[in-house]
Amino acid sequence: MAHLRYEALKNVQNRQKIDVEQPSEKISDFFGQKAFGYEQMRAALSPDTFKKVDHAIKKRKKIDQETADAVAAAVKGWAMSHGITHYTHWFQPLTGATAEKHDSFFDAQKGIENFKGSTLVQQEPDASSFPHGGIRSTFEARGYTAWDPSSPMFILEQVLCIPTIFVSYTGEALDYKAPLLKSLEAVDKAATKVCKLFDRNVSKVNASLGWEQEYFVIDKALFDARPDLVMCGRTVFGHNPARGQQLDDHYFGSIPSRIYDFMKDFENNSLELGIPVSTRHNEVAPSQFEVAPLFDEANRATDQNQLLKDILDKTALKHGLKVLLHEKPFAGLNGNGKHNNWSLSTDTGVNLFQPSSSARENLLFLTFFVNTIKAVYDNEALLLSSISSAGNEHRLGANEAPPAIISVFIGSQLSRVLDELENNGNIEIEKGDNLYMKLGIDQIPEIILDNTDRNRTSPFAFTGNKFEFRAVGGDANVANPMTTLNLIVAEQLTNFHNEVEAKINKGKERRLAIIDVLRDYIKQSKAIRFEGDGYSDEWVKEAEKRGLSNVRDTPRALDALLSDQTKKIFNKHNVLNDKEIDARHEILLENYIMKIQIESRVMADLALNHIIPTSIAYQNKLITNAQGLKDLGVDNSEVVKMIESISGYIGDIRKKVEAMIDARKKANKIDDTRDRAIYYSDNVKNKYFDDIRYAADKLELYVDDEDWPLVKYREMLFIR
Ligand code: ADP
Ligand code: MG
Repeated sequence: MAHLRYEALKNVQNRQKIDVEQPSEKISDFFGQKAFGYEQMRAALSPDTFKKVDHAIKKRKKIDQETADAVAAAVKGWAMSHGITHYTHWFQPLTGATAEKHDSFFDAQKGIENFKGSTLVQQEPDASSFPHGGIRSTFEARGYTAWDPSSPMFILEQVLCIPTIFVSYTGEALDYKAPLLKSLEAVDKAATKVCKLFDRNVSKVNASLGWEQEYFVIDKALFDARPDLVMCGRTVFGHNPARGQQLDDHYFGSIPSRIYDFMKDFENNSLELGIPVSTRHNEVAPSQFEVAPLFDEANRATDQNQLLKDILDKTALKHGLKVLLHEKPFAGLNGNGKHNNWSLSTDTGVNLFQPSSSARENLLFLTFFVNTIKAVYDNEALLLSSISSAGNEHRLGANEAPPAIISVFIGSQLSRVLDELENNGNIEIEKGDNLYMKLGIDQIPEIILDNTDRNRTSPFAFTGNKFEFRAVGGDANVANPMTTLNLIVAEQLTNFHNEVEAKINKGKERRLAIIDVLRDYIKQSKAIRFEGDGYSDEWVKEAEKRGLSNVRDTPRALDALLSDQTKKIFNKHNVLNDKEIDARHEILLENYIMKIQIESRVMADLALNHIIPTSIAYQNKLITNAQGLKDLGVDNSEVVKMIESISGYIGDIRKKVEAMIDARKKANKIDDTRDRAIYYSDNVKNKYFDDIRYAADKLELYVDDEDWPLVKYREMLFIR
């Protein structure tokens, strides 16, 4: 019966260590060797051509045919020198994964290796199976991919990968990258304009992203023996191990050697691809780890995260391991999150969230700081929707991750600065830096250095020189939350600029005009600031009083996408049009439905085919035993009690699984996608999952370990 589980455990015991060799002693020798980025282009192209590419990247302009041909020839030569014969357009459809379609450089007609600029720039993948939310009707089920020159091409698994956007034949975005690029353009435009109030030399503002990716690693054989992990990425059953994370002994503990080899290997692979991974340590849960590269421009960093997820997966397989990125692979243990460190910086080299030693420059810092807080306040529901997913539902508000309430933490010292600014109403203009002293903003740099009270329970925290969006799911494509953040800040900065200009036009001194507007914003956005314990029940009550959204279920959280305010800003900044928003909303709902449907099916299958039969077989043994005891005249009441318990749980599971299947049937008949998603959430997931699991986990506790068919938590988490 439990054959599969024991086979799997035996496999783990017989694992051979896989030695990992660093490609070269010095990292600098192999860093970025498999990427064809900015510097490689500079080296491979004529100065003239490079100048054109550089201009096109910086100004986000189209690359002309001739230049594209030159880049194509250069990258073909580079790839072939690495022994590469195939290429693919690499894109990020709304499924959340990345997609590829491989083609050969070899041109059979001409009998030579060929790669034209037009092929580099545009492709038409047979992509009718990617989600499109009704945008592509079946008769024009075509979309195309278009090269994004601002992100390096790279070699993965012997194929040249070309980062691209993916749009429908009629031009609507069908992926995550296209809107991200547009949001970056929007925030650049708006932020540059605001910067010019301070410094006319600024001509571009870049958004930076530094993500921190959490993941679990378990043995591949154990993974394969868990149909729920294979099908859903998370365990739908499993009793808590005797030893969980109570001891916190895993956190920053020593990394076990098999995992260490795997880490060395994927780090080498990442470094070769130009992903500057740097940190590794154990997370709170057993078998959980984290990787974080140095931050980069947000579009490139997003590609790097998508690529890294792939590298993690592929490298783990080589080591007989499996990486789990799901937001909640194991109940009762922390899940996988992804912190997104985000900042804006100018082409003159200023991080706009860096308080400065010059009091004067702190007004610039405060401008971006306060505007970001205001943007989050005005769009908290939209921001929440950008991180809502079936997986993340298990984390948000579950006492391990930030709640499903967006708030901003800035630390006590910056709170004091904002309070002071808010209250010192009638400042007169004075010469020199006296003004800043009066405003209380001459002191910020010292203050920040000393800002030790970082609040881990906040979903959106200021951490010295950047904001850290912590509520993002481990498996998510970060493009979605980053697009949203860039967009809302772009909108906010645009409004700010208008208001300041209006005051200046009325004769107000520039700095005082800025302060006036900031002061208003500080007052208006106060409700989003929260310095306390985000995991506490009091905060939930307090947030409700403040009118902040607290939506834990994805289908309802996604409503924020459809609000007038959302559509207005997406349209205004050219990031998504109404048709694209509607399609995205539809796709996200469909994704949600599919995930819950699969989880529910897997649950029912495992319960009916594995757990109940095993429990009945064991129960029969107990019945024989009870009868035997009785025949001998020995008290058998304890055994009888066990039989009754087991019987009760079996009955519970059977009834609830049947009712759940009925609920699914009902759900599937609902036409409207949102209603169907809500039905799945309320009447399939919330109504049955926990109860069925509770009974099944109890049975795991009762049934003889020898008979239990599913690999147990303690085996997945502690055996390696
Ligand atoms: P934590 O304390 O949250 O674990 P870490 O120091 O591990 O923080 O991670 C900080 C992350 O922030 C790193 O990935 C780093 O590259 C990134 N980071 C640092 N400065 C910036 C910045 N200005 N903009 C964006 N990301 C940044
Ligand atoms: Mg962090």
